[in-house]
Amino acid sequence: MTTIRKVCLTVFCFCLMTVANAAGQQCSNVHVANVKSIFAIAPSPVGRNVLFYASAEEAEGELVSGNLFRLRLNGADSSVAKLEAPNASNPSSPVWNLDGSAAYFETDQGIYQLSLAGGLPKLLLKGASAGIAISPDGLLLAFWRVGQGADSLIVYDLSKHSEVRTWKVQDRFDSDKSGWDLAFAPDNYTLYARTYDETSSTPLKRFDLASGKVEIVSPDCYAVAEGKGAVYFIAVSDAAKSLRKIVDATGRSSLVAKDFGYDSLSTGGSPRWVVSRDYRTSETVILDTETDAIKSIGKHESATVLSDGRLLVVSGPDITVGDTSCKTREHAQSLDRRDEMAMAMLPKTQKYAEKMAGAAGANNINISATTNGERVPESNHYTGESIDINKVNGLRVIEAETNPSVAADVRSIQNAANNPSVGVAHENYGPSGLFRDGHQITNPTLQYQHENHIHITIPRNTNDGN
Ligand SMILES: [Zn+2]
Repeated sequence: MTTIRKVCLTVFCFCLMTVANAAGQQCSNVHVANVKSIFAIAPSPVGRNVLFYASAEEAEGELVSGNLFRLRLNGADSSVAKLEAPNASNPSSPVWNLDGSAAYFETDQGIYQLSLAGGLPKLLLKGASAGIAISPDGLLLAFWRVGQGADSLIVYDLSKHSEVRTWKVQDRFDSDKSGWDLAFAPDNYTLYARTYDETSSTPLKRFDLASGKVEIVSPDCYAVAEGKGAVYFIAVSDAAKSLRKIVDATGRSSLVAKDFGYDSLSTGGSPRWVVSRDYRTSETVILDTETDAIKSIGKHESATVLSDGRLLVVSGPDITVGDTSCKTREHAQSLDRRDEMAMAMLPKTQKYAEKMAGAAGANNINISATTNGERVPESNHYTGESIDINKVNGLRVIEAETNPSVAADVRSIQNAANNPSVGVAHENYGPSGLFRDGHQITNPTLQYQHENHIHITIPRNTNDGN
C-alpha cells in the first residue's frame, strides 16, 4: 500500500473580519482555530506574508512549543495555514531573505527553509539550534548550537552551503537562559551576540567574520536587534537599563534612551521598526530607527510592525492588524496579573522551598534567582512562583557532573520536588532531568541549560496555606 503524503500547505483555518476604525483605517482581525498562543512573529520584508509559531497551549513557563504558521494578508482573501514542519521548542522568530522569496526557521529537528515559490519546507541544517539571524544581504545565516558546558556560534553561507565561521563560547551563566539574540551589522561582516560565559551577566560581544576576532561591546546586555543602519541593544548597569545603538564598524555605541525599562528587541518587517516589550508587565513600545522616536502601544502578549508600517498585535489565538486604535479581542489571560504580583518571592514559594529542602535532607540551598535577573519571556519567576538553586549544601550544582555526592544531593532535591507528599512542582528542571507536573520531558537544549542550577516552580493550585 502506498501512502501519499499531503502535498503543499494544509489550510488550518482562517476567519477574517475587517472593520474600519474611527480614523478610517482598516482593522483586520484574524482568528486562528485550535490554538491558544501565538509567538515569534516574522513579517516578510515585502508583500503580505507573516510567519509565526502557534501552540495549542498557553505560553507559560520556560518551555514554549509550537508549530509554524503562515498568514497571508490579502483583504477578504486572507488565510492562515499551518506549515508541514516539525514542532519547535522556544524558537526564535523566523528570518526572511531580502526579497521575501525565502524564509528560514527553527524546529527541534533542525533549521528549515521555506520557499514562497511553493513546496513543503525543506530541512537545511539538521540539529536543534537557538537564535537565528540573517545578514542584511541575505547570504549568511547565523545561529547557536547549545551544548553541554559550551555553546557554538555558527555562521553558514547559504549559497555555498558551508560553515564560514564557528566560535565556541563557554556556558557559565547559572540561571535560566533565553534568547540567544543575534544581529548582523549593516556591513554584513560583523555579528553581535549576547553570550552566557559569565555566571551572573550576559555580555554583548562583537564577532568579526573576516578575522574571527571577538570583543566585548557591553558587559551586560538584555537584547540586541538590527535596526535601519545600526544595531540596537539594551545595556544593563547598576540594575538600570538603557537603549544604545552601534552605528560604526568599531563597535562603539551611543545612548538612545536611558531608563529604558524593557527586556526584548525584535525587528519588524522592515529594519526601520524595532519592537520592545517588558516581560513582566507586557508593556510594549515601537522604536522608529529612522528618528529613534519611541512610541508606547500598550500591553500585548506579542506585537510586530509590518513592512508597510501597520501594527500587528496578538491576543491568545487572535491577530489584529491596523494601528493602535484598532480594537483587539479580549483574552482570558490577564496581562495585569504580573503587575499585581509581589516583586519578592511569595511566602508560599519560600514555604515550598523549605519543605522540599527538608524532605531532601539538604542542610542548605542557595537561591540564585527568585524574581530578579530574569531573561525568559514567559517565566514563572515574574509571578514569584519560581526559584533557581545554584548551590546545595554549599557546593555548586554544576559539580554534579563530576562529584557523586553533589549529584546525590541534587537528585534528592529533584526527587523531593516530584514527591506528592511534598507537593509536585510544576516545573522541576535540573541535572537529574526535566519534569513538568511530575512527568519527565525530553528536550536536550533545556537540559543543557539546567546543568548548573535547578529551576523549581511551585505546584499549580497551591494556596498560601495561612
Ligand atoms: Zn528559573
